[in-house]
Amino acid sequence: MIIDISSAKRMVVKIGSALLVNMETGKLRTQWLAALGKDIADFKRNGTDVIIVSSGAIALGRRLLGLHAGSLKLQESQAAAACGQIALAHAWQTALLAQNITTGQILLTLRDTEERRRYLNARATLFTLLKQGAVPLINENDTVATSEIRYGDNDRLAARVSSMVSADCLVLLSDVDGLYSKPPGESDAKFIPLVEKISPEIEAMAGTAATDVGSGGMITKIEAAKIAVGAGANMVIAAGSEPRPLQRIANGERCTWFKATATPVVARKRWIAGSLETDGSITIDEGAANALARGNSLLPAGVVAVSGNFSRGDAVSVVNGSGKEIARGLVAYGKENAEKIIGRRSDKIEIILGFAGRDEMIHRDDLVLMGH
Ligand code: GLU
Repeated sequence: MIIDISSAKRMVVKIGSALLVNMETGKLRTQWLAALGKDIADFKRNGTDVIIVSSGAIALGRRLLGLHAGSLKLQESQAAAACGQIALAHAWQTALLAQNITTGQILLTLRDTEERRRYLNARATLFTLLKQGAVPLINENDTVATSEIRYGDNDRLAARVSSMVSADCLVLLSDVDGLYSKPPGESDAKFIPLVEKISPEIEAMAGTAATDVGSGGMITKIEAAKIAVGAGANMVIAAGSEPRPLQRIANGERCTWFKATATPVVARKRWIAGSLETDGSITIDEGAANALARGNSLLPAGVVAVSGNFSRGDAVSVVNGSGKEIARGLVAYGKENAEKIIGRRSDKIEIILGFAGRDEMIHRDDLVLMGH
């Protein structure tokens, strides 16, 4: 086995429509789903957080609505998704409840994953579900997403989700077992078990959008891989149609792994350090500067001034008394609230602001020391 899926701490599993729904009858593959529920329960028992990104709303809904075969107009797909999503969520709820697992549904749009405030809110909800032991069930909010602001495919959505929750593993289950050097039908097509770097050659194997030779949606899977490995998750493409597909991967079944370029924390820090623009600065005292150098978080108590115009989650510079930038990070409070808690102890935050915010002005996972 190239990468051990069993050692994943937090795993996002994306399930394609063709696995969940029998494309001929339009019916749910209930037994297959029940078996996947067991797979998920095994991973959870082993200490892995699991997040599901499930397609299938449109495939299920079109039958429920009695829509014709063939391609659907946008509003028909959206109507189909409206009906199908209820059935899909119910099926997942049933399959997971049989394993004593609670599931919570989150429907996301492109904006929810790209706009910082919405992103932070969605992330906080996801973390809370995980903390309580639930399995988040995610799909695109197809009924309101219009074509310009739509993912349209759950491969990239799942990759963004995996970056959002700092997952260390992303599993794409579909009807293909991995990446081939050429379309799998061709006689000299070679199977690629491991991709350490997504080179132009690898991208070419997936086909280009213009020629569309890479069947099975390989192009969006490679796009997903770029997002995932850059955010610190190993990604695997595996065939999912046989029962217990996660167990099969763990047992060494053929699949294609894309290796992460860093751990999720390092990837996140790299991204913070690389964000050139900051929206403000936070001046800290010497004690806080020493604490930061030791790897601690920045607490409001060590802050002496804030400037600029930043919102919660924005990138800010952290400067010392002589104005030198010593760190950069994502601030947990907007400017107005940050100002009110300058120099105050964290246990006073709730009394001052009227809500229980984070103890840290900048958590150490969101902080990078400059010059390191
Ligand atoms: N969100 C779509 C659905 O639930 C699926 C998109 C995809 O196939 O990746 O039907």
